[in-house]
Amino acid sequence: MICMTTIDRTRLAAALAEEEQRFSIAHPRSRELFEQAQANLLGGVPMNWMMKWASPFPIFVREASGARFTDVDGHTYVDLCLGDTGAMTGHAPSPATEEIAEQLRRGVTFMLPTEDVIWVGRELERRFGLPYWQFALTATDANRFALRLARQVTGRPLVLVFNFCYHGTVDETFISLQDGGPISRPGNTGAPVDPTLTTRVVEFNDIPALEAALAPGDVACVLAEPALTNVGIVLPEPGYHEALREITRRTGTLLIIDETHTICAGPGGYTQAHGLEPDILTLGKPIASGVPAAVYGFTADVVERIRQRARLDEEEPSGIGGTLAGNALSIAAIKATLQNVLTPPAYERMISLAERYTAGVQAVIDEFALPWCITRLGCRAEYVFQPTPPRNGGEAHASEDPMLDRYLHLAALNRGVLLTPFHNMALMSPYTTTADVDQHTRAFRESVATLIAS
Ligand code: PMP
Repeated sequence: MICMTTIDRTRLAAALAEEEQRFSIAHPRSRELFEQAQANLLGGVPMNWMMKWASPFPIFVREASGARFTDVDGHTYVDLCLGDTGAMTGHAPSPATEEIAEQLRRGVTFMLPTEDVIWVGRELERRFGLPYWQFALTATDANRFALRLARQVTGRPLVLVFNFCYHGTVDETFISLQDGGPISRPGNTGAPVDPTLTTRVVEFNDIPALEAALAPGDVACVLAEPALTNVGIVLPEPGYHEALREITRRTGTLLIIDETHTICAGPGGYTQAHGLEPDILTLGKPIASGVPAAVYGFTADVVERIRQRARLDEEEPSGIGGTLAGNALSIAAIKATLQNVLTPPAYERMISLAERYTAGVQAVIDEFALPWCITRLGCRAEYVFQPTPPRNGGEAHASEDPMLDRYLHLAALNRGVLLTPFHNMALMSPYTTTADVDQHTRAFRESVATLIAS
């Protein structure tokens, strides 16, 4: 039997305290700005999540370029968080920023189409296989609109999601399983409707549970990431996607694939890489190099059903859209990103860097006999605190260790590397280098070594 190392919690607490002190001393200007911000911003931050970084107060950014950013105290970081995928293109990628700046000069928003939509629509079909597209400003909105349309065309009330999924701030999705039954997920702020009334939830990779949940024929759609990415990475088991597609088709349930994070798998996301056949596909975050934009696409069959249900010339389409959706700047940014940044050669580089990252982390796990493992999906990789990859969201959630997370994140930050908060995700951009990856590996090794008594 292989002997696995256990983490001494007293040692962990002391190491965390030391990293917190080191951080505070090195970031006087960020601390000062955070204190000033208390006067006008709730919690001292523009968005509540920014309070949740591992550091005692958030780093204030001065500027960013490619895979790096500099803070107001003059430190430069290797960014492996990349705006939690919003900046997977790298920050301000020059092949896109020129065209974005040019559109900015020519006007931002008209509530009229611009010529770029023709190229973008064709390119989206080429990458994802779906012929018809619409635009939104965030992946959250793309998912919300997709759910509404799915309910409209099927005439069914419910949606199905996977335990510990995340699809943005979409009311129907804040549900999880507890002791086998559905509950409103803890932290579901001011929920307008109890999600147990709108949604069924099952574990990912559980085919019998999916079958049972869809059997009554009252679920409009399954909203799925093709691999879970928001509770660590949970990959589909062999045959799972075939079963998901077969059961959804047989029960008349639409399949919505959310590629917002799994676009890390390749230029056409997991869908293209694995030949998936969704009815609807959603994607946001990096698609416009960080300019707010999202897309959602449909099969010809879904579009025909939308047309039958909604006479566009007669009815006012409520609940879908937004004044700024499909604005000229977003569309120009999507075009520039797909044409010049998230290209097949860029993916080749990014994926090989993620392989290097994974090998580096695995070597440290092996060296210290840690009961942890690392999973990679395209240019994204993530380690979890369990010895084998989790099979579903419940299992992945159970292995979370917030204090250990906090320590490893802060230790990495103090050594010049930013990881994605809430979990241990690292993402490669077209500008990331092998030296950046190796900087993380060294920081990871050093922080793990501190925890392990010699
Ligand atoms: N879908 C997935 C899979 C996501 O991970 C997220 C955000 N993390 C979203 C949708 C929502 O993206 P946004 O917050 O940009 O609307």
